[in-house]
Amino acid sequence: MKILQIDHIGVAVNSIAAGKGFWSDVLGLEFAGEETVAAQKVKTAFFPVGQSEVELLESTATDGPIAKFIEKKGEGIQHVAFRVDNIEAALSELKHKGVRLIDESPRMGAGGAKIAFLHPQATHGVLVELCER
Ligand code: ZN
Repeated sequence: MKILQIDHIGVAVNSIAAGKGFWSDVLGLEFAGEETVAAQKVKTAFFPVGQSEVELLESTATDGPIAKFIEKKGEGIQHVAFRVDNIEAALSELKHKGVRLIDESPRMGAGGAKIAFLHPQATHGVLVELCER
């Protein structure tokens, strides 16, 4: 498994409209667009930082994973995504190492990326996403 870089940091917000001002106006990051991923009940907004980006996540449904996260923990960093060269190979390697996975095989994320989540119980509390673009 080869991790190439941090792909993005996912930040759960109640509202992208209300939350994006800090990242664009205060920090001066470029707002690179929004995308809704219906399957994950989430709307995302992207702010590139070098080769990585901050990704704001707003739930589109009260039972979505982001809504549940905010209900439990409030707004804040929800996951860290590492870009890998081969996500299938990475998942199979992690499985062999006994790492508990949320996704045994990749699914489609924002921007057409292949993504998969590791279980936070296996990572000392960090929701880790693997991502291949
Ligand atoms: Zn992500």
